[in-house]
Amino acid sequence: MIGFRLDEEYEELRKSVEGFARETVAPVIGDLYERGEFPYDIVARMGRMGLFGLPVAEEYGGMGGDYFALCLALEELGRVDSSVAITLEAGVSLGIMPIYRYGTEAQKREWLPRLCSGEMLAAFGLTEPGGGTDVAGAMRTKARLEDGSWVIDGTKAFITNSGTGITGVIAVAAVTGTKDDSKPEISTILVPSGTPGLTVAKKYSKVGWSASDTHELSFDGCRVPEENLLGERGRGYAQFLATLDEGRVAVAALATGLAQGCVDESVAYVRDRRAFGGPIGRFQGLQFKIADMEARAHNARLSWYHAAARMLAGEPFKKEAAIAKLTGSDAAMDNARDATQVFGGYGFMNEFPVGRFYRDAKILEIGEGTSEVQRMLIARELGLNA
Ligand SMILES: Cc1cc2nc3c(=O)[nH]c(=O)nc-3n(C[C@H](O)[C@H](O)[C@H](O)COP(=O)(O)OP(=O)(O)OC[C@H]3O[C@@H](n4cnc5c(N)ncnc54)[C@H](O)[C@@H]3O)c2cc1C
Repeated sequence: MIGFRLDEEYEELRKSVEGFARETVAPVIGDLYERGEFPYDIVARMGRMGLFGLPVAEEYGGMGGDYFALCLALEELGRVDSSVAITLEAGVSLGIMPIYRYGTEAQKREWLPRLCSGEMLAAFGLTEPGGGTDVAGAMRTKARLEDGSWVIDGTKAFITNSGTGITGVIAVAAVTGTKDDSKPEISTILVPSGTPGLTVAKKYSKVGWSASDTHELSFDGCRVPEENLLGERGRGYAQFLATLDEGRVAVAALATGLAQGCVDESVAYVRDRRAFGGPIGRFQGLQFKIADMEARAHNARLSWYHAAARMLAGEPFKKEAAIAKLTGSDAAMDNARDATQVFGGYGFMNEFPVGRFYRDAKILEIGEGTSEVQRMLIARELGLNA
């Protein structure tokens, strides 16, 4: 059965996040972005709206919704601002979901209610300074069991939500041994913020996502109880591959929002801006540019809806998630470039959102798997490098 109309509950959620983004985020985010300040107040409000708990069962403090609902919220936030959207995306898909999917009952009870309420954020530490794409091969962070504790040593790079004043816990992927086939055994360990031996470096100076939080983390004899292991020992690799498959659909939704935001801003601007005796929107050259932008945003949306539909139906969705991420990030980059052009000199000024969109679009081709990785995944699913 083919259907593209959102049912009532999804549409209600979409509208409420659209209103929140327009009324609460849009008026303040430009200043926060310029100052590189984390949007604590917005995050607290998103928490009160239940956005962090959207795909989590009510018994753990969630809203009892699903991952599609989360992605709808991300698209609407992405239409207005990507720093806020990525804070939610990383907080849920990288922070909450691994605990929800793989945590013990005690871990879920301990962390999920506070994470779902937005009172606390979780981060996911996978990438290292030596490599993000070949992360399993490049992983140097090690954890060893000693007197009932995991002792962790190593460094993680570019970790979102890892150094805010409300960061509560970081899921850290570490090598915990060697498997029978001589490959590294990777496991995930929960490290609460403030654990002695964990150092959060000062935040990076970034090209975009300036109001989001990203840090390097170092672990030097960082000791946590043995029961902080997330899921089974040696399952870390499988856990992060599954987490990233889902996360790609979420990033694709965010990217679609950015692409659509470029259309929203451009349509309003060309109606208002005048040249040669009338609004610039009457020039077919600009109309075509905006029509192409709308087509890209539309295709990106269909792509992530399809991937999400397969995910929710319990069907394989790896290829569709990779296509959605690739399509969405391409649309975001192309639309950000075109929207900036439509705005002319004002597109280069920070007071207009399109300049922010331009700076924020690039990372979408890099984070949670680069565009090259998405192409590798698609080719592999086609059996090309089996
Ligand atoms: C702002 C920001 C936030 C982030 N948040 C997080 C986070 O919360 N948690 C986390 O764990 N990580 C996070 N990351 C890391 C991100 O996922 C990595 O940067 C990304 O996966 C790429 O890894 P890399 O930077 O090491 O690049 P590399 O792996 O060094 O890649 C460099 C280039 O080589 C290409 N390449 C590599 N291998 C191949 C190949 N086999 N074939 C073709 N091309 C290839 C890549 O596509 C890329 O173009 C974040 C990064 C940024 C910038």
